Amino acid sequence: MNQIDLLIKNAKIVDGSGATAFKGSLAVEADEIKAIFRGDAEKFLRDNQVKRVVDGEGYVLAPGFIDIHTHSDLNFLVSGEAASKLQQGITTEVIGNCGSSPAPIKEAGRSMLEDELADYNLELDWGSYPEFLTRLESQSKSINVLSLIGHGAIRKAVAGFDDRELTSPELDEAKAILAEAMEAGAFGFSSGLIYPPSAYGTLEELVELAEVAAGYGGIYTTHLRDEGCGMIAALNEAIEIGRQAEIPIQISHHKVVDRDCWGLVAGTLEIMESARAEGVDITCDLYPYLATNTGLSSLLPDWAHEGGREKLLERMAGGNDRERILEYLQDVVARRGWENVMISELPGGRYPEFEGATLAELGESWEMPEPEALLKILQEQKLRAGMIGFAMCEKDLETVLRSRLSMIGSDGSSLAVAGILASGKPHPRNFGTFPRVLGKYVREKQVIKLETAVHKMTGKPAARLGLNARGLLKEGLKADLTLFAEDQIIDKATFKEPFQYPEGIKEVWVAGESVLESGKISEKKPGKLIRNLI
Ligand SMILES: [Zn+2]
Repeated sequence: MNQIDLLIKNAKIVDGSGATAFKGSLAVEADEIKAIFRGDAEKFLRDNQVKRVVDGEGYVLAPGFIDIHTHSDLNFLVSGEAASKLQQGITTEVIGNCGSSPAPIKEAGRSMLEDELADYNLELDWGSYPEFLTRLESQSKSINVLSLIGHGAIRKAVAGFDDRELTSPELDEAKAILAEAMEAGAFGFSSGLIYPPSAYGTLEELVELAEVAAGYGGIYTTHLRDEGCGMIAALNEAIEIGRQAEIPIQISHHKVVDRDCWGLVAGTLEIMESARAEGVDITCDLYPYLATNTGLSSLLPDWAHEGGREKLLERMAGGNDRERILEYLQDVVARRGWENVMISELPGGRYPEFEGATLAELGESWEMPEPEALLKILQEQKLRAGMIGFAMCEKDLETVLRSRLSMIGSDGSSLAVAGILASGKPHPRNFGTFPRVLGKYVREKQVIKLETAVHKMTGKPAARLGLNARGLLKEGLKADLTLFAEDQIIDKATFKEPFQYPEGIKEVWVAGESVLESGKISEKKPGKLIRNLI
């Protein structure tokens, strides 16, 4: 008789490929899927010695979800539980997005990173990208993680926050840093072209770097230079990088953030389809919410960031530069509506009353115009402040969700409902992204089918990343599994009350180990740092 560790019997099997669901059972031996079969589980139970049987009747069994766009880089060092992700059925996260990664780190940006780590009682004990990966690997984890290196981090290391083209030796150094990261197992690199210093990168520079990543089988993910009315030019830049460097391109959190140009995604998806027809391998991801989440300082003009945090604070303090910044805020940012920008987080604990307040409310409270209130809070926080911006529309979200090119990425971090990772008013996407797609957009609004949604959460991102051992229910693959109730699954986190886990996730396994059961996280930590080694 065969020894089998686990049999999940009589579940609705959605295998992650997009194929039609079927009623069946799945057997796990050690960390792998041993068998999947339709029909009679009783015969299997007679023929094999099964240690644990889970009755899947009434539940969907899917591959563990892969969150292709996250910012949990430091969170894994704080807690390997990855609670807010695990509670969503996520078993693998991709970190290092939007041009941002905590390594390499030299002088530029060092004090900011040290401040952030100090909030978590952590010390900066790495320098290079491989050192950071080793640190991440040594941390025990519930779920798997894999990484991209941020273009912003590379640029900080070679040219600080200088707003200029890289010199030839600097570009060589940037390429060497990227090659070193790829050799250590990064899956590619990301850019955040609205965030300095990534924003200072030129097309030529990005192409040269993309060629290096492509040489190692990596991908290029990008937060476009413009997600408003200038998005088409920004998208064409990404496509050009894909064409010239022959690298797969992932457009991050595809959306339009300017109400004057809502609807533009119909055109951008068509442009992506045409590029694909010409051989550019381009896809995108999205999160199912109508608000963004980023640093509050991203509202300031790019030029003001040149030179880094101290320089920016000097410019904000007075003189001609301060006037120019205030004018920019009054002209450009005011159009978004001050009531549409909510302060999400103010680390340090000095202003808890403003976490969850809009900039309109902050201005009222301090009895000053909003641009001045914004500068004051940024100055007092030394720029350490997060924001949520209500900026998108439902129709665009559904258009992107329906596209065959899209997959699901939370753009969030692994947080928790209590403890050190439960501060401020974080974006609900950190807690609810995947259940929200399955509950709101599959069950309630029927925008896409269950099998399609699961594919966008599993098989599709796995294929994008070249993850051969995960993302599908198939014999021989890793037993990363999520069992959920399709008639119950739903997000609970809201903008006002974000600290709520979703409902409807019955059990989650990573490498064959049960890591979450009926809402309770196990002590087991089978998660791994996955390195892309070729
Ligand atoms: Zn981004």
